[in-house]
Amino acid sequence: IVRLSGVNKHYGHLHVLQNINLEVSKGEVVVVLGPSGSGKSTLCRTINRLETIDTGSIEIDGKVLPEEGKMLAKLRADVGMVFQSFNLFAHKTILENVTLGPIKAKGMKKSDADKLAMSLLERVGVANQKDKLPAQLSGGQQQRVAIARALAMRPKVMLFDEPTSALDPEMINEVLDTMIGLAKEGMTMIVVTHEMGFARKAADRVIFMADGLIVEESTPDKFFTNPESARAKDFLGKLI
Ligand code: ATP
Ligand code: MG
Repeated sequence: IVRLSGVNKHYGHLHVLQNINLEVSKGEVVVVLGPSGSGKSTLCRTINRLETIDTGSIEIDGKVLPEEGKMLAKLRADVGMVFQSFNLFAHKTILENVTLGPIKAKGMKKSDADKLAMSLLERVGVANQKDKLPAQLSGGQQQRVAIARALAMRPKVMLFDEPTSALDPEMINEVLDTMIGLAKEGMTMIVVTHEMGFARKAADRVIFMADGLIVEESTPDKFFTNPESARAKDFLGKLI
């Protein structure tokens, strides 16, 4: 459902993405690992064209992502993204945060959007917070609202870029559990994370990046017990 072919990107002289080829099938959960600066966030941002690419192509559900224009907005709606910082609209209620996209971008009626939003807030376990402002919620709750907001656009793929790394330890699991639930329901997911437990439990495939390259690609079992590349061995060796 996602296909990157020969994707290259530079920041000045820095070759941040080097000939990236990646295919993700429907329902697959791909975890992206790698040291800081290896290009993981850049990869995520190129997948919904928050960043331009120099060469190569990106397809979502068989359609090539254009550089810009109306089609881009439409195809981008197929890709939900959740960031490290929750990025909720600070002056809107939890419910409004979730209904805004469907109403503005999809022209959904408010009553329908409210219904959809409540079912999603229910699903991520924060429906009782619907009338509060983001600042009145814990980090873990805010991140679950961010997930509900992304799901409200009915994406075909969900991208997560270190969704738990800004959270206090006791809140990490509630967000990871929500993600595991999504994975079990068959959502296609690309997840950048340092949570190795999540990678082992939820990933169908692990991708290890270093210096803008996909260095290794395997099952979590194989990656964690028997990594092939020196870079991956080094990376895993540094984890506690
Ligand atoms: P981390 O684990 O720290 O989040 P990452 O793997 O997500 O790292 P990226 O954020 O994708 O890494 O960055 C890859 C490289 O590109 C880094 O060397 C970074 O300094 C550089 N970079 C990222 N964004 C920009 C930018 N807007 N302009 C210039 N260089 C950038
Ligand atoms: Mg990053």
